[in-house]
Amino acid sequence: MIDTVKLQQSLEARRARHLYRSRQVLEGPQGPRVVIDGREYLNFCSNDYLGLANHPEVVQAFKRGVDEFGVGSGAAHLVTGHARSHHQLEEELAGFVGRPRALLFSTGYMANLGVASALLGRKDAIFEDRINHASLLDAAQLSGARLQRYRHAGIEHLQQLVENNPSPDKLIATDGVFSMDGDLAPLPALAQVARQHGAWLMVDDAHGLGVIGATGRGSLEQFGLGMAEVPILVGTLGKGFGTFGAFVAGEAALIETLIQEARSYIYTTALPPAVAEATRTSLQLVQRESWRREKLQALIAQFRSGAAQLGLQLGESSTPIQPWIVGDTEQAVQLSEKLKQQGILISAIRPPTVPQGTARLRITFSAAHEAADVDHLLGVIAGVR
Ligand code: PMP
Repeated sequence: MIDTVKLQQSLEARRARHLYRSRQVLEGPQGPRVVIDGREYLNFCSNDYLGLANHPEVVQAFKRGVDEFGVGSGAAHLVTGHARSHHQLEEELAGFVGRPRALLFSTGYMANLGVASALLGRKDAIFEDRINHASLLDAAQLSGARLQRYRHAGIEHLQQLVENNPSPDKLIATDGVFSMDGDLAPLPALAQVARQHGAWLMVDDAHGLGVIGATGRGSLEQFGLGMAEVPILVGTLGKGFGTFGAFVAGEAALIETLIQEARSYIYTTALPPAVAEATRTSLQLVQRESWRREKLQALIAQFRSGAAQLGLQLGESSTPIQPWIVGDTEQAVQLSEKLKQQGILISAIRPPTVPQGTARLRITFSAAHEAADVDHLLGVIAGVR
């Protein structure tokens, strides 16, 4: 029987293991500096990689969208919730990633659930990197397909699993940039395995789109891959684009199938059209202002070189996600608290979000940071370590 005493005991047990999660209340916009409890902090744990979440043009577009469309979309896309702004954004996103069509979802979590559950059934198989984002792993569960997890970036392991799997339809799904490690999936090798075995490859490029690749077209651009190699591309809009929502891009038949079959698309209220309007502007900024990606790369290089001098154990990452691997969960939590006392916000990421023994501080950079912020961060890390 479920009762509150039992819930309380399990919460206490969680606290004793340093796994208790709590929220911090921001008193203003997201940005390189945020205010919590009246104190300003330098923020190194946001996914607003390009500094667009509070960009004046994006804010203006959002307000314009509210003036034109009101606040709530009022219905699901297939009823009367699909507004002109959604439609235009879908066309513009498809153009951006060079695919015939794109379909908006309310969140990246729902996009992943939608794809797997629309395309797969009990007889099918889905292969996932062990450290894929939780939404891809949950998507597999919801689809009912057989989930086989391969070792992180383990192409040989994947190859064995795919070869020995008799399922008719096979989907290989991976993060493009791994959310807690910042490294890139070995997409060319994954595409080759997919091609050899008639499997489909799906890339969730939540942390890559807008942010990496010469023109911000993400991890596929970084590797020079297109729709032939990666038929299913998922992007999210709440990170590099600074707004909210997500999309899937691919062939028309894929998108129509999602419209007909993806329950997380069909049975939910459409995003507010004003969010789509704001995203249309942020998409323009992503394309027009390449200096944001260049600045970000310079900040990342500055941090990595300073961290090497301090002897910090970082992951193999060239992206704005720079994990400082601490190992012990309690120590990671203590370091995060000490940094907060010094005015720096960096979350401790603990199991089960990351494997046991790999607790870390997930440091993220934004084009809205300055070189002086990175110097300050390195100085404070040197002091608290
Ligand atoms: N995929 C990945 C790789 C992510 O990191 C996240 C968000 N943390 C999501 C999907 C979910 O996206 P959203 O926040 O839009 O639900």
